[in-house]
Amino acid sequence: MDFSELKLARPLLKAVGEQGYEKPSPIQEKAIPPVLEGRDLLGCAQTGTGKTAAFALPILQRLAAGHPNHKGVRALILTPTRELALQIDECFENYGRYVNVSHAVIFGGVGQAPQVAALGRGVEVLTACPGRLNDLIGQGFVDLAHLEVFVLDEADRMLDMGFVHDVKRVIKHLPAQRQNLLFSATMPKEIEQLAGSILKRPVSVKVDPPASTVDKIRQSLYFVEKGDKKRLLAFLLADPGVKNALVFSRTKHGANAIAAFLIKQGVGAAAIHGNKSQSARVAALESFKAGRIKALVATDIAARGIDISELTHVFQLDLPEVPETYVHRIGRTGRAGAEGTAVSFCSAEEREYLQGIEKLIKKKIPVVKDHPYAPGAPRPAQEEEQER
Ligand code: ADP
Ligand code: MG
Repeated sequence: MDFSELKLARPLLKAVGEQGYEKPSPIQEKAIPPVLEGRDLLGCAQTGTGKTAAFALPILQRLAAGHPNHKGVRALILTPTRELALQIDECFENYGRYVNVSHAVIFGGVGQAPQVAALGRGVEVLTACPGRLNDLIGQGFVDLAHLEVFVLDEADRMLDMGFVHDVKRVIKHLPAQRQNLLFSATMPKEIEQLAGSILKRPVSVKVDPPASTVDKIRQSLYFVEKGDKKRLLAFLLADPGVKNALVFSRTKHGANAIAAFLIKQGVGAAAIHGNKSQSARVAALESFKAGRIKALVATDIAARGIDISELTHVFQLDLPEVPETYVHRIGRTGRAGAEGTAVSFCSAEEREYLQGIEKLIKKKIPVVKDHPYAPGAPRPAQEEEQER
């Protein structure tokens, strides 16, 4: 399918073309028509599937069709983190280049004066993090009385980060008559309940990671004892073939320990997770994108929110209990037709998870047996020294 088949106006098609998008992604193909019709929507698709354009394009089209005589917000997008808020607002800038729809972004951790000034000038599309938005609503700076479209982005992450109460507080300020869109990478029961309370007769759109994407990713598995995982990781990262790597850690503490170990071994690394300050996360992400550090160590939740388009490698230090998580993680590489490599470590305790994963992906992950930390193999001399 082509973007032009989606009944999008010419100025939007032009902007999308300039972004280099050739075809709508599956979630865009499915979500754009009902959103253009004004329907409520429940969209479930993992990170990187193009959810932003799936709501931003139809919103821009609807808002560009007529500008009312008030300065109130017409579309509100709630998203959990500053990085995401900035990314979404930038999409409205890019996609909306040839339509006349004003937009702004608000989040905490910075002075509120410029945000208040923007609101005062009138903002049609407001992207916001819930905490700061509630602050500004409380101070009377945000007019939501005329809201036409409400978007809850990354609903599951919002829940994980404990923002549900804030979200519900925002919703209390919205007019009853409005269009609602809810996007989430996963659909746990709590999200279904939340969706049930927000959406009216929604169209439900779900996109699974296409098997073909996963097929394109070179996967390999290393059996390694728990205590050797960090060393094996440092060893593999030293390969110049690894341009950049997203390393998954089950815990925040683990992420810190892994990053610290890599740095000690001379591999540029940083940890990124919910306990880090916004500015630390932004700085780590920028260093990584600029190629100043090779490895970004993240928890699943932190990794989900970040958009890195050219990732050559994904490492999983632990196999996940939930097989779908394996697919989500490896799907972070090999984007947009690029070749990606996914390397996973499996300790004796994790063998049981391997079965479920291989059943889901319907193939055996090739095992690399010949490596310095293979269980039972003689350890490299240098490492033995360090151990004593
Ligand atoms: P999500 O919100 O689902 O995580 P994003 O909306 O952030 O995904 O999009 C992920 C990346 O894909 C972005 O870099 C975006 O520019 C790109 N993208 C979105 N739609 C398309 C498309 N139709 N064709 C090519 N790239 C796209
Ligand atoms: Mg998104």
